[in-house]
Amino acid sequence: MTMTSDIEENSEPVTFLVEGTVVTMDAERRVISNGAVAVVGDRIAEIGDAAEMRIRHPGARRIGGDRRYVIPGLIDCHNHVGQVLCRESVAEDFPNIYRIYIPAEAIQSQDDIRISAQVAFAQLMRAGVTTMTETTCTVSHEEPILETAMETGIRIAMARGMWDRESRLAGNYEQITEKSWYSDDPKILADDLAYTKEFFAKWFEKGEGRVRPWVHNLGVPSCSDERFLATDELAAEWGTGVMTHINRDREEIELSVSLFGHRPIEHLASIGALTERLVAIHAMLTTDREIQLMAEAGAGVAHAPVVCTDIMSAVTRVPMMRAMGVTVGLGADTVINDVLKLMRIAYIMHNQAAMPLFDPYGFSMSDAFEMGTIDAAKLLKWDSEIGSLEVGKAADITVIDANNVRLSPSTNPVATLVRYGVGTDAESVLVAGELTVHEGELVTIDEAALLLEAEELGARVMSQMVPRRYVELGTNVNVL
Ligand SMILES: [Zn+2]
Repeated sequence: MTMTSDIEENSEPVTFLVEGTVVTMDAERRVISNGAVAVVGDRIAEIGDAAEMRIRHPGARRIGGDRRYVIPGLIDCHNHVGQVLCRESVAEDFPNIYRIYIPAEAIQSQDDIRISAQVAFAQLMRAGVTTMTETTCTVSHEEPILETAMETGIRIAMARGMWDRESRLAGNYEQITEKSWYSDDPKILADDLAYTKEFFAKWFEKGEGRVRPWVHNLGVPSCSDERFLATDELAAEWGTGVMTHINRDREEIELSVSLFGHRPIEHLASIGALTERLVAIHAMLTTDREIQLMAEAGAGVAHAPVVCTDIMSAVTRVPMMRAMGVTVGLGADTVINDVLKLMRIAYIMHNQAAMPLFDPYGFSMSDAFEMGTIDAAKLLKWDSEIGSLEVGKAADITVIDANNVRLSPSTNPVATLVRYGVGTDAESVLVAGELTVHEGELVTIDEAALLLEAEELGARVMSQMVPRRYVELGTNVNVL
């Protein structure tokens, strides 16, 4: 059976025939052996039998072939490109978010952030990722990151950020004389909303369909109720949403309870800001009540499994969230820019919790694969364009080289990829019908030249982070 679209009937030339075992991730989860995907311009024009399509499109450029898996371009739902060059040290530098991650991002100039963005995009695209999600904390970085995305060819959801609230949790001993407090700044909010409106209009146009502007609200401790409500309204006008780091650590929850009498997700629900446009980033320390509230509101979760352990918090309750109907997508969060590995980590993490109940369906390999493809697309409200291979959708396609005994033979490519796949198995990657990786090499980035710049920047960033450490790190590695 071959599915075609109007595009093909209008006889525009097929630019690519992408051949192999086609894992569609469509509603029926069809897998087509000896299949092919035909690309016309930036769209998928046809999916069907490779031999038959080759005859009808003799002029098309053929990629993929025998022992290849043709899968939807992988999707990363959470990242901070400015933190890519300090990623190796952060676990040992605990507590790390406000001492290492955010300062490492903040010290970078606009030229520096272009290098960091190229490094992150190179890692992601080389690992078969076609869509990434940036979550900025630094306004001056937003334009250079988007310009770099346009140059390198990756698709990007850009959650631009600002905060308009100061707050402080009084620690145990401080409570003898002090109380926790917060203070909002309406002027910062007004100025930033005006800027955000212009930003949305500009990048919906300039991004040529590859950029979706979102809002980043750093969290309840940093953003006013008015900001949550106003940004939700703005996102509704444009059909995107608001991403917020939430229910991540004990201090944040304690602050919210002490100031508002509610946990953070409950607080957003109480003010009317928990909507289908909210993407809760991490949401590790989330109660049954809060999962219920998110399910009722239609809110989603960006789950970065590695960071569950990296910031020493807790394991996000993903099987429960999915069972309740909450959409969950995977996020690399800079630490491992490889969505196939994230799927495996998520599978091990969540299946381990399900198996003591003797429930083989508690969290499956297919569930993990969905969270990096179609469910990730739903989370980003982009599933009419990406997340599955279907006629009429954008031609975001990853070809996996399975011409080895690690990935072949296989009767279930999804399970094989979740168990054994690594990013560098990606042989070719198309974003919106354009090659960004071919035969295992980046097409749009000179990796050797980038490496030299990244080494210089990485050394400079880390030299400024080392004095921020409390103590000399205990380590069994001695780099000479
Ligand atoms: Zn984050």
